[in-house]
Amino acid sequence: TKTAVHGKGGIGKSTTSRNTPVASARRGKRVSQTGCDPKHDSTPTLTGSPTPTIIDTLRSKDYHYEDARPEDVTHEGYGGVGRAEAGGPPAGAGCGGYAVGETAKLPKESNALHEYDIIPSDVLGDVACGGPASPPNHADHRTTITDNGFDASFATNRTAASVREKARMHPLRSAGLIGNRTLKRDLLDKYVEACPMPVSEAPPPTEHIRVSRVKGKTSFEMVESQPHPNYVCDSHPDTADQALSQPEGIAPKEVSDRESSSSLSDSHSNPIRSEGGGNDQENLLDPAKMIR
Ligand code: ADP
Ligand code: MG
Repeated sequence: TKTAVHGKGGIGKSTTSRNTPVASARRGKRVSQTGCDPKHDSTPTLTGSPTPTIIDTLRSKDYHYEDARPEDVTHEGYGGVGRAEAGGPPAGAGCGGYAVGETAKLPKESNALHEYDIIPSDVLGDVACGGPASPPNHADHRTTITDNGFDASFATNRTAASVREKARMHPLRSAGLIGNRTLKRDLLDKYVEACPMPVSEAPPPTEHIRVSRVKGKTSFEMVESQPHPNYVCDSHPDTADQALSQPEGIAPKEVSDRESSSSLSDSHSNPIRSEGGGNDQENLLDPAKMIR
């Protein structure tokens, strides 16, 4: 199964894309994570340090795609998880979208991924068209990471619309949503009421996960050596099982941008309470309580 992972920037796509494969690998599956963000920050946590990107490999072969061998494209990382990272031009130069569009083809052309059962592609943000959005053209499913906030739900609706559009030409379907950092679920539930799709859970806001990113490790590797709350790695096996069950997937129902934003903003215009945590939006300070 090839799954493209989408969602608003900073929502937890890379975090989820590198932890779920470890859980799947522990279920005995061959998994290879593909980073498709030109800033190439998706998979180094699986290897502890950056390994050559696909663009690096192509450059060293003078862009002769046919010379790339599977082992030039995928490298083995933590827990036996394979990893490939598209890479891109230096920041501010060239076209990252073009690079991702081109490199998304290479694993297929070089046969680098044929031995894997599950191939998640960690895609750049919520871009819905052009090169950065091309990995779903090679995927069976798309999963969107979201939280309980307005912007993430709005981005989720955009990616749902793009699955519906792409589903006309490609066998792509939505495998649903993964809620990350969701202590509260009211907005997320409201969205799913309007646009029905399966939802599974990633961890709540967790200091351990933030630190694992900084230390360049998956959560599973971190828990081997650091004290941690029990639930840190709990949700990943469920998410992995959901992917392994090979859901048929859905073509999401149409909800217009206007409809989605007005229904979500109705909920969001209610006063924000800071108790209980949640995402950043839910934790905004109440100006009435600020020290002057
Ligand atoms: P994206 O790939 O969607 O841009 P990342 O996966 O890089 O987002 O996550 C953005 C930041 O949020 C990272 O520093 C990551 O460690 C942190 N993060 C993600 N999920 C959680 C969580 N459940 N709890 C705490 N921090 C998280
Ligand atoms: Mg990312």
